[in-house]
Amino acid sequence: MLGLSAALRLAQAGQQVVVFEREPQLGGLAVGFKVGGSNLEKFYHHIFRTDRAMIRVIDEVGLSSRLIWGKPVTSMLWDDRIADLDGPLGFLKFPFLPLADRLRWIACLALLKLAPNEKPFVGQTALDWTRRMTGPNVQRVVWEPLLRGKFADRADQIVMTWLWSRFHERSLSLGYLRGGFQQLYEALGTHIARLGGRVHLSTTVTAIRPQADGSVLVESDRNGAERFDQVLVTLPTRLFGRVAPDVPPGFLERYPGPEHFGAHVVILGLDRKLTEHVYWLNVNQPGFPFLALVEHTNFLPPEDYGGLHLVYLGNYLPMDHPLFGRDDAEVVSEFGAAVQRINPAFDPSWIRQSWVFKAPFAQPIVTAGYLDTLPPHDTPLPNVYLANMAHVYPQDRGQNYSLLLGERMARHLLRAHVLS
Ligand SMILES: Cc1cc2nc3c(=O)[nH]c(=O)nc-3n(C[C@H](O)[C@H](O)[C@H](O)COP(=O)(O)OP(=O)(O)OC[C@H]3O[C@@H](n4cnc5c(N)ncnc54)[C@H](O)[C@@H]3O)c2cc1C
Repeated sequence: MLGLSAALRLAQAGQQVVVFEREPQLGGLAVGFKVGGSNLEKFYHHIFRTDRAMIRVIDEVGLSSRLIWGKPVTSMLWDDRIADLDGPLGFLKFPFLPLADRLRWIACLALLKLAPNEKPFVGQTALDWTRRMTGPNVQRVVWEPLLRGKFADRADQIVMTWLWSRFHERSLSLGYLRGGFQQLYEALGTHIARLGGRVHLSTTVTAIRPQADGSVLVESDRNGAERFDQVLVTLPTRLFGRVAPDVPPGFLERYPGPEHFGAHVVILGLDRKLTEHVYWLNVNQPGFPFLALVEHTNFLPPEDYGGLHLVYLGNYLPMDHPLFGRDDAEVVSEFGAAVQRINPAFDPSWIRQSWVFKAPFAQPIVTAGYLDTLPPHDTPLPNVYLANMAHVYPQDRGQNYSLLLGERMARHLLRAHVLS
């Protein structure tokens, strides 16, 4: 999204743009694949009412009639039971905490909603702040599982500003592009091409080399070397280091970028519903091999996917975690056994199809000192710029924020071009 939104704005400003994408399809972490007649994201995706840039661009490319909104149910698994967290009433009726704790939890969420920016939370870790605000019971049932599930042994260091953005920015109402977000990415590619831009798919950039005359050579595995006036790199900083051999080593030592976790999902295509009505299930109960269960077809109709009921089982893990190297069939069977604990009626014979997807650099780890690791957008290489999803702090990564950053970078490149 970051590269495409920058390319679109640059092309609209009259620049000749070329997009390099390693994969055979556009979309990056939000890429889809065909299930039935629709595209399904490899990793679960929706948008929020607050994702105004996404809504604006979906409209701009002519897809707003496909953008649907709903309030699919979010729930929590604890003590072998599922409790809905459906608006204030859901929190009030939440069965796993005494009333006094529920009220403290609601007050804490209200405070996060009302705080207009991240400033009051700077310098505090999420687990310390929530412990102080909501006490040990809410900590044990809600915050610890949430943060430990997502960040494992880094959970104690996650900063409160990250948690603030997660709750402050998000609406209860969720949006989805019926037929898949892939349509948006294809439409962006088409718009760029109509403006004279070129999109190279299945093309891995192998080196970026500034030249003495101020131009920049981009070498790729398919197109040899192409010469450009300016290059915007939208890779994680650690990958930028690998493709830009002329970057002085001191720069990457000073600005290594944050550590990232990878994402791992199993998708089950079932012949029937798994849960009655739950879209998003936070698996807070210890002992499960995944941290979230997302029953996509409790938001979208299964008819969009040839009648399959689709359930994601998701994890964020260190990129060297053994799960990434394990046999897919073995993982599906192990996760299936865990699913049976959530719905004892579940039988593996319900699985018509299954998929396993893995992605590195999927979640920046937002710990103290994070900002200090972020490189400036102007790299030491003349006319080479760097912007990636880690730069959207204090927001958590999301399509909306990559889109906005891409637009901002397009303006930055245009200004720099005029000045040069
Ligand atoms: C499990 C999961 C769930 C998510 N849920 C949501 C959600 O519900 N809503 C939401 O808005 N966002 C969600 N996101 C986040 C969203 O997917 C990202 O914020 C967004 O896609 C980031 O876009 P980007 O362009 O910044 O980065 P990326 O999508 O990572 O794009 C980087 C691109 O660079 C390409 N590339 C890498 N190396 C090379 C190379 N050498 N040469 C050429 N190309 C290369 C990659 O193939 C990729 O396409 C989720 C992400 C994950 C992992």
